[in-house]
Amino acid sequence: MKKILVVDDERDTVRLTKKILEDDDFEVIPSYDGKEALEIIEQKYNDIDLILLDIMMPEKSGFSVLEDLKNDDRFKNIPVICFTIKNFNEDIQKAKKLGACGYLVKPFSGNQLITYVKNKLNPN
Ligand SMILES: [Mg+2]
Repeated sequence: MKKILVVDDERDTVRLTKKILEDDDFEVIPSYDGKEALEIIEQKYNDIDLILLDIMMPEKSGFSVLEDLKNDDRFKNIPVICFTIKNFNEDIQKAKKLGACGYLVKPFSGNQLITYVKNKLNPN
């Protein structure tokens, strides 16, 4: 079973995303802030197949988390999809530059999410 870490400071988004993914047989680890997410990754990185990462979070932003991950040899190959309500080209470019493998704009449908995640887990 593929394991996905979902990081978002909005609990409703985490809950909804978790439900959508679990209904499709993914296992979900929820996290509500960037620092906590890094602690979880530190412990479970061998187990995490993909990270869904919100960008705007109060303590530590998704961009900051992404930067930390890509600068660490243990974590840099875990695929990261940024998700955010910010549908700005500048942010999409920044996420890509920092090493995100994808960018999903909220709100998204369940189908969109599942299709996107599967595509990133099994490219082509
Ligand atoms: Mg947020």
